[in-house]
Formats: sequence, structure tokens, C-alpha cells
Amino acid sequence: MSVNLNELNEDQKKAATCIEGPVIILAGAGSGKTRTITYRIAYMIDAGIDTRNILAITFTNKAAKEMKERALALLDDKVLPPTLTTFHSFGLTIMRKSGILLGYRKNIQVCDAEDSVKRIKKIVKNKGFEKELVSQFADMISRAKDKLLEPSDIEVYEQGSVYDQFKQVYYAYQAGLKNDNMVDFDDLIMKPVQLFRSNPAALNWYQDHYRYLMVDEYQDTSHSQFELVRLLADKYKNICVVGDDYQSIYGFRGADISNILNFKNHYPSAYTVTIGQNYRSTHVIVNAAAAVIENNPDQLKKKLCSMQDNGIPIPVHAADDDRDEANFVANKIMKALDKGRQPKEFAVLYRKNAFSRSIEDALMHLHIPYRIFGGLSFYQRSEIKDMVAYLKLLDVEGSGDRIALERVINVPKRGIGQAKIKMLDEIAEKADDNSFNVAMTAPEFDKVKGFISFREAIKTLQESAKELPLDELILKISEVTDYPTYLMQGKSKSDDEDEVKKRMLNISELANKANEYIKEHEDMSKEELLSTFLADIALLTDQDMAKDDNVVSLMTMHRSKGLEFEYVFIIGCEEGCFPDDPPYMGNTLDVQEDRRLCYVGMTRAKKVLFMTYSKQRYLYGQIKINDPSRYLDEIPDEYKKEV
Ligand code: ATP
Ligand code: MG
Repeated sequence: MSVNLNELNEDQKKAATCIEGPVIILAGAGSGKTRTITYRIAYMIDAGIDTRNILAITFTNKAAKEMKERALALLDDKVLPPTLTTFHSFGLTIMRKSGILLGYRKNIQVCDAEDSVKRIKKIVKNKGFEKELVSQFADMISRAKDKLLEPSDIEVYEQGSVYDQFKQVYYAYQAGLKNDNMVDFDDLIMKPVQLFRSNPAALNWYQDHYRYLMVDEYQDTSHSQFELVRLLADKYKNICVVGDDYQSIYGFRGADISNILNFKNHYPSAYTVTIGQNYRSTHVIVNAAAAVIENNPDQLKKKLCSMQDNGIPIPVHAADDDRDEANFVANKIMKALDKGRQPKEFAVLYRKNAFSRSIEDALMHLHIPYRIFGGLSFYQRSEIKDMVAYLKLLDVEGSGDRIALERVINVPKRGIGQAKIKMLDEIAEKADDNSFNVAMTAPEFDKVKGFISFREAIKTLQESAKELPLDELILKISEVTDYPTYLMQGKSKSDDEDEVKKRMLNISELANKANEYIKEHEDMSKEELLSTFLADIALLTDQDMAKDDNVVSLMTMHRSKGLEFEYVFIIGCEEGCFPDDPPYMGNTLDVQEDRRLCYVGMTRAKKVLFMTYSKQRYLYGQIKINDPSRYLDEIPDEYKKEV
């Protein structure tokens, strides 16, 4: 036996070795839940279970990657890695393998959130509904899918009501995606569930294949994710879920906390493990976080005791404004770096992405390396989307992607405006052809300069696609479109030159990624490689592209889930910022969920937690003057100190 289980405590050990039948680990932050499933995976492999039968689902690609590395490091022998993935990547694997059974064609593509809003916008416009409703419809579609509701399941009580309109939009949206052989992020969960429900043979195959299931951060699963896992586990019931009801923070996005609370009802025989120790943080941090969460009336009570030192009281800093706050943070980090600490030991956490700006400026000023996690994902960057849109047009299966066409038909500027695009759509509709074919062949455009240039570019690239490997094809796109010049158009300041350089560097990163991808998928034909690459990168985030990890991490508290750092700063601890300002999007803020977010943020820190607030803050173009956050008040005096 090569896995040393003595690196676990007794409760963790039991959970790691109980590999048949349902298991639930319901335990607080830092209690070693993730560590336990990592050891559990290694233990299973050691016990001779085929790695292909093991499936572990985690929250982010980064967490999946870390778990894979750690589990394999625990083993002596080299083995095939098990499937350690996110819900969305797993869904994509199923759709790619079995989408045909649901009437999709080969080489399904993923429609990202931005493009899905574009699609909805178009539908709303065509139907003559109010365009202010677009984001509400996008949200409603997403929530419906979380609940596994198809358009036909939507009940409408009043003709012409928003609900009636929503149903029509949802119908058209789904039909459009299907027609283009695309799925959106939520479909990546809903469609596999539909497959499993409608096709017992397929379900049986997947059940046999993924015989051992594990889900981390189970408290944040939606109904559809719950159902996906439930169906898969239904045959062998080898399912281990881990989570913490104190850390449920995605209710606003459709997560359903009852999934974890009702696990015992679904699996009455489940072996339940609770862990009372926190191995991550100091006593002060654990006790302070516990004192905050205690103010949630609906939270089940549980106690954690720290296995670490007492630690120092939480330094709380009152800044004059957001710049002052950012300077405080940056100076503290600078001083610690001078004493030999590493940038990667620090994280700055905030409620919303907008808070990162001032911190970025301050860190940049002191030349401290940092990275913003979340925010815009790598794939969403406009230069990457431009390259990807061209690739989509070159992908034989995906060339009908209307959104991709509209994105790049005028990149570089070819003088093709909205009027021409409308004309193109009309011709396509009459001819019952896709817009790309029309753009390429319709005689109406034979003499239009912009179209001549677009056609030339595409034809050159189609030739290149046959000859060049994918990474070189990406660089070729940038060359044929003279992309740097396009980026520079209308720009002159040196600042913008830097920006152009950065964007071109991102394009080389994309090419690097493609190069890695080629190596990992040697068995694929060129065409297949392009299609699968396109679908896969839609799920990539900045974190997956990161090379140098020795940087200060800046992220929202939502993103920080499951992670840990020696030193953590929570900034913007003010009423109206944190807790956030209700109501937003017509909902009233769920303060209990917001407080759980505070609990998540606080428990990321191992050694020292800093909390800061600002007497006035410049945010969203306004000066805000707010009181210190109630969460600061909720921390007993013995655990905090004004600095
Ligand atoms: P979260 O709820 O925040 O996701 P978690 O319960 O998943 O937390 P882990 O991240 O697995 O907790 O563990 C927290 C830290 O404690 C890690 O650094 C882990 O290596 C360490 N740890 C956990 N259990 C033990 C143990 N038995 N002995 C030593 N260190 C441990
Ligand atoms: Mg964890």
C-alpha cells in the first residue's frame, strides 16, 4: 500500500477508505474535505480500481488540476489519470460522445454567455419585445435550465405577459442553438440529464463507466447538477459528496442548498462524516468567522476548532478613500515581500470585480506581480474571440455560425455595415441557406469591395487550414487580417501601443495552447482537432492560461471558494458594498447568503486576515459614503485590532 493514510485524521481516513456506497462529508471550512477526496482517489487507484471508472467533479478547472496532481503524487506508480473535471467540462464530454442521440450533429460547439445574450437580443428585436428585457430573459432562461425546464414546461397564465414573451424567446433561442448545433453553458448540464432520462441504454453505459463518483463543493450544486449526479450514481450508489452548508454562496445563480441538506433522505444508508477540526487557519480566524456566521438565524449550528496557533487579532484598517485603502494593502504586501515572503502567499478579496481597479493601480505602482482571477475570462477577450470566430468559419461543421460571421466580417474594417448584414440575412432567409455561404457566394455581393476582400481572406485561410497545424493557423489569421494594424487603427498614444502588444501576446498564448492541444490529441484528424479545440476553449478561464503562479491573487470572494492563502485582505468592508446594496435586479439581497460569503472569504486565510473599509469610495462613477460593514461589528473585540 503506497498511500500513507496517516496523513489524515481518523474521520478523514474513514471517509477516504469507505469506497462502496454513499458517503457524505459535511464539515466546515479548512477541515480537509478536499484533501480527503484527494486521498480517497489515490486510495481507490491503489486498491486496484480502474482509473477510468473514477469521476471527481470540482468547482473550477484549477481545483480539478490541483486534485489530479496531488492524487497522482500520492501514488508510487505511474497510472492513467482518472477523470477530474468540472460539471461543464464533464457535460461537454457527454455531449460530444452522445449528442447524436439527442439529435445533434457531430462536433457540437459551445455558445458562451456573451454570444447567448447576442442571440437573445436578436430574438427580442425580431419579435418586437422591449430590449430592456434582454438580460432578464437571459437570466430566466438560465434559471429555467437549472431547474430542467424546457420551453414547453413554462406555464403562461396571461397572454402578452412577460412570461408569455419569455416562453416565446426561450423557444426561439433553443431552436436557434439546436439549428446551429450549439449548446450553451446551462445546456451542458440539462442536455445530458435529458439524455439519461430518455435513453436507458446510454444511461446504463455511463453508469457502468463512471462507477465511482465524487463531488466537491456539493453545497453549490443546482437542481440540474444534482439530477445529473443522481442519475449517474443510481446503479451502483458509489457516491461521495463533500460540502459545507456555511459556504453556500451561489443561491442567486440557482444553486440549491437542499441538495446537501437532503442527501441523507435520498440515500438513507449514507455514511456520514463530520470533521470538527480546522487545519487551515489560526484560532483567531476560525473563531472570528464563526462569530460572524452565528448571526444567520437559519444556519445549522456547528463548531470548528483550529489545529493551528492562536494567531494575531485581525488587523482592521479604516482608510480615508479607496486609493488610501489600496495603498495600505500594497504597502503591507511590499513590506512582507522585503522580509522574504512570496507574492503567491497573498490574496486580495472583494465583493465585486469593480473593486480590483484601485488595488491593481497600487500594486502596479510598487511593481508587485499580481493577477486578477475571474473578471473577463481569457476566452472572452475581444482579440481571442476574433481569432476564434475566424476559426469557427474555417471549421467545416461550424461555418454556419452566424454570430461568428457578424463578429469578423468587418474585422479588419471592410466597410461592411449593418445595412449589408441585414441584406445578407434577407438573402439567406429567402434562399434557406446560412449567412456564411451567402456572404461567400451570393452574386449580389460579387462587386462589393468589402465582400471581395472578406472572401479572399477566407479562401486563403481555408487553404492554410488544410496545410498548417492549428497553432500556425491562428498566427496566419492574425497575419492575413493584418490584425495588429486593425488594433492600432485610430490609436496613437504609446499607452495604446502597449495595449496592442498585450493583445498580440494573448494571441500567441492562444497559439501556444493550440500547440499543447495538438500534442495531447495526436490521434485526431485536423478537422476533428479544430472542432474539439473550439468547444474546449470556450470553457477556459484565465487561470488555465496562467504560467507564472508566483503572483498576488486578486479575486472576488465567490471565486476564492476552496482556495487558501497565508495572508488574505478583504477590502471594501462597508455597508452598501458588503453586504451589497439591495435591491439589485429586482431581487432583494439575501443577507444570509452574503454573510456566508463573508465566512468563505475570512476562512481562506491561513496566518493573517486583514479587513479594510473606506470612509468614502469612488465606485461606478460616484462617490459613496458608507458605514463600516456590520460584519466587522459582528467580530468580537478580542479577535480584531484597529490599525
Ligand atoms: P474548504 O471548505 O475551504 O474547501 P476543505 O475542507 O476542503 O476547505 P482542505 O482544503 O482540504 O479543506 O484543507 C485545508 C488545509 O488543511 C489544507 O492545507 C490541507 O492540506 C490541510 N489539512 C487538512 N487535513 C489535514 C490533516 N489531517 N493533517 C494535516 N493537514 C491537513
Ligand atoms: Mg475544499
